[in-house]
Amino acid sequence: MQTESFTASRVDELNSLFLNSGPEKLLEWGLDAFGDRIALCSAFGPEGMVLLHFLFRMKRRVRIFTLDTGRLPPETHDLIEKVNNLYSFEIEVYSPDPADVREMVKTHGINLFYRSVEQRELCCEVRKVRPLLCALKGLSAWITGLRRSQTITRSAARKIEIDDLHSNILKLNPLADWSEQEVWDYIQKHSIPYNALHDRGYRSIGCAPCTRATNPGEDIRAGRWWWEKDQKKECGLHASPSSVAKNGTNCERIGAEKLVGASGR
Ligand code: SF4
Repeated sequence: MQTESFTASRVDELNSLFLNSGPEKLLEWGLDAFGDRIALCSAFGPEGMVLLHFLFRMKRRVRIFTLDTGRLPPETHDLIEKVNNLYSFEIEVYSPDPADVREMVKTHGINLFYRSVEQRELCCEVRKVRPLLCALKGLSAWITGLRRSQTITRSAARKIEIDDLHSNILKLNPLADWSEQEVWDYIQKHSIPYNALHDRGYRSIGCAPCTRATNPGEDIRAGRWWWEKDQKKECGLHASPSSVAKNGTNCERIGAEKLVGASGR
């Protein structure tokens, strides 16, 4: 089990080692190195589904968590239910602290995010960033579906990074060098389930009120917070938002079965 702390030069070495290898090699290394102290964070987007499939085929036990913001589209809950039935993973679901949500809604209204970038970032902090801090507690590393070509803020993503937003734990991005086409080719080849919204023109899916379908020729992230003009559209999970301090880390953890059952569909 890994006990070393990772310096920038050690991370450079590891990136060189995994430069030309596929996602399995990096996943194997991460699971061997960290055991229960590593987890996959998945929002069940195409990249997350590819990683789930890799892990399933590798027959490795791994912690998987997701963040249920309370504003996800029903199609995402449908996909989580499919994943529950198809793969034998236990998915940990982290939800925002109800008191935080109550306070935010009481002060700013339920759809505060349309008013300003600051209020949108506050909502993302309450509903996503704080639950992520809970999920990462006790971890030495996490696995994400980040790809360099997803957005300008991710263009420098490496397969292994020191995550200075989260106590300098390691962040593994096994698909960092994959294109969107490679992701979809893999999904088609292996008949991997995906969010039904993708067949309706959605390319990147987050919360329902903050996601729309994209038009031909638009950027992959154009449908996220489409009313904001800034290119740096991030919720704070992978890049620090501009104006919101991280306060507190209360959140709820439930099982995926309860989440799906609670969706009422
Ligand atoms: Fe709130 Fe929208 Fe961010 Fe979801 S994506 S947490 S609804 S601002």
